[in-house]
Amino acid sequence: MINLIFLGPPGSGKGTQASIIARKHNLMHLATGDIFRDEIQHGTKLGKEAEKYLKRGELVPDHLTIEALKSRLEIVPSSGRNGFVLDGFPRTDNQARELDNLLNQMHLTLTAVFFIDVSEDEIIQRLSGRRICKSCGFVYHLVYNPPKVDEICDLCGNKLIQREDDKPDVIKRRLQVYHEQTKPLVVYYAEKGLLHFVNGSGSIEEVEQRIEKVLEFIQEGS
Ligand code: ADP
Ligand code: ADP
Ligand code: ZN
Repeated sequence: MINLIFLGPPGSGKGTQASIIARKHNLMHLATGDIFRDEIQHGTKLGKEAEKYLKRGELVPDHLTIEALKSRLEIVPSSGRNGFVLDGFPRTDNQARELDNLLNQMHLTLTAVFFIDVSEDEIIQRLSGRRICKSCGFVYHLVYNPPKVDEICDLCGNKLIQREDDKPDVIKRRLQVYHEQTKPLVVYYAEKGLLHFVNGSGSIEEVEQRIEKVLEFIQEGS
């Protein structure tokens, strides 16, 4: 099994890389941001609760987030997948500890935690140009990763939109929240010997190659 976490600031490319790696290695891609946006779109109870936080760029309370993640993580062992990629979870110290408990109960272990490192300037560029498909959630960038036809999803033909929280004032708050609550997890995973720094600058393919190299190295050693 390969069980991975992608850690990094908003806009660093976690989702982009997690999708690619998950497809290549047949892993289940679990992104808490996508889960919340899906629940919001479907108008569920969780969606209604979570929406307030996403709008402001604040974190959804831990108990709701952990519950949402847990019910999906539990499907992994019987899914026929080779493991999972967590993208955007954990984001707090408490979530990281709860994840450890959950994995223990499921007799699963983490393979690696990738920290994608990108400068603050690049983050702003990436977030402000991000567009997502309203229907399937696929992620594009106006300049770095544009769709074939302007504003239209390559995969499903639906319209691309800008996320409400990718507008400047909310971006600022998300970065603040990241530095206060999520960045410290680097130390948490470094102390467990699981952390791998990945230079997140350069093209999507270049970053992917850096991640694949680390994965090959880990798998050779195990
Ligand atoms: P980003 O592109 O910034 O990495 P995500 O799509 O992962 O954004 O998350 C969007 C929003 O969803 C966050 O700003 C937060 O409100 C909520 N969210 C996602 N994951 C978590 C989490 N693990 N804990 C709390 N809130 C979360
Ligand atoms: P995160 O999940 O960390 O918030 P995303 O994967 O959504 O980040 O990427 C943020 C934006 O940057 C998206 O518009 C994406 O297309 C773009 N992007 C991702 N990786 C790169 C890269 N290596 N170079 C340029 N743009 C990128
Ligand atoms: Zn689409």
